Amino acid sequence: MKSYRQVITINTPSRRAFINITPKVNEALRASGIKEGLVLVNSMHITSSVFINDDESGLHSDMEKWLEKLAPEKPYNQYAHNGYEDNADAHLKRQIMGREVVVAVTDGKLDFGTWEQIFYGEFDGMRAKRILIKIIGE
Ligand code: ZN
Repeated sequence: MKSYRQVITINTPSRRAFINITPKVNEALRASGIKEGLVLVNSMHITSSVFINDDESGLHSDMEKWLEKLAPEKPYNQYAHNGYEDNADAHLKRQIMGREVVVAVTDGKLDFGTWEQIFYGEFDGMRAKRILIKIIGE
């Protein structure tokens, strides 16, 4: 069995963003040379997510509004965690959007369902954040 590890860094200009990282995962898969196996992609931070969904801007806007209703950024003093920081909302948003995804690799390609794409969800950006790509297989 082969294994391949790559860390990519993203620094968003805004506090929150959704970024399609499927091309970066495809690059890593090509570099790995693995044709059959699994890809794990996870955020290495507790205020950002990796998730799979549709690359459609209306949906991303809906997700942003939905997350903001569940865990509004402001006022900061509504959260106990913000006694030390101002990012309690980001931890909560990350929790519901998830830490990682796993995708099957078949015949050298990501074996997606219809319209599936891999996204990085940033909830406390404007600084360098890391994403781990780990690929195992043959
Ligand atoms: Zn925090």
